[in-house]
Amino acid sequence: MIAARGPAASNKLPHPGAPADIIGFMHASSDPPTRACPVCGSSRSRICARIDGHALLLCAGCRFRWTPAPAPADLERIYAASYYDGGENPSVYHDGYSADMARAQNHARILDGLEQRGSRGRLLDVGCAYGFFLDSARARGWDVRGVDLSAHAVSLARARLGPCVWHGTVEALPADAGPFDAVTMLDTLEHLPDPVAVLTAIHRHLRPGGFLFIRTVDGDSLAARWLGPRWPQVKPPEHLVYPAPRHLVLWLRRSGFTPARIEWDGGLGLGWRALRTIAPPPPAAGRPVRGIRRRLKAVADRLLALCRATDMVHVYARRESSAGDRGTGHGP
Ligand SMILES: [Zn+2]
Repeated sequence: MIAARGPAASNKLPHPGAPADIIGFMHASSDPPTRACPVCGSSRSRICARIDGHALLLCAGCRFRWTPAPAPADLERIYAASYYDGGENPSVYHDGYSADMARAQNHARILDGLEQRGSRGRLLDVGCAYGFFLDSARARGWDVRGVDLSAHAVSLARARLGPCVWHGTVEALPADAGPFDAVTMLDTLEHLPDPVAVLTAIHRHLRPGGFLFIRTVDGDSLAARWLGPRWPQVKPPEHLVYPAPRHLVLWLRRSGFTPARIEWDGGLGLGWRALRTIAPPPPAAGRPVRGIRRRLKAVADRLLALCRATDMVHVYARRESSAGDRGTGHGP
């Protein structure tokens, strides 16, 4: 979870081996909330819902949905320790990492995808939180770095991984932080008030020919369209943007990337709720689903992904080696 906007890189980035420090806290913006669409720029947007006092806007031009960014001080509060201590993400952060085979398999799949595309070496995970993905990448031989806005998450990640985890924003990394052979952004893009600013910064730090991997929500999924503001991914101010794949492609191209592949992942968005309805919930909050329910969920999610009916996408995008290489990627 990383903030999108930061000041110019005035603080020296700590190199591995030196004590890590705070970099690039986002600045306080005095801009009033705008209704201009962050994708197409249209001012023809309307408030389609209010969730916990936050407006959900819908662009009449490109059907993009988003919530105007809250005040920076509010965003900083969101990612304090309480965000991770079981209130919002009990299954993600309190299940016991090594026991969560589904996530481990997902990490392997992502790293397989990067390595099959020729990426190997230095990896930067943007919005690394506790650094679980960095653990998986390091175990496979990657030289890993992470960056996250949350001081709480970074302190715990550093305790395990060392000073290769930086506290701050990717926009504030100095030029010599890279180049990286691969950059990953897992479940982070939907938290960003200005995704293009972050993607542009990532492009700067990726080596030519390197790949960016993004896992984020599909704002055009069946669940998103059927459930509207009741879609579980709609949770401002934590989630701020709900891009459809076509919006992601536009943002990537605007940031200099060539989108190479999109795969569908995750569940229908209703999967967990349906399972909890037909089967009793686990006795302890946050305990992972086991046994037959886990296997049923895995099979159902795989079928849904094959039908492109899930509500998460995996996106691979390349920084071209040269201008002449543009447009040679596999079609999404
Ligand atoms: Zn629009």
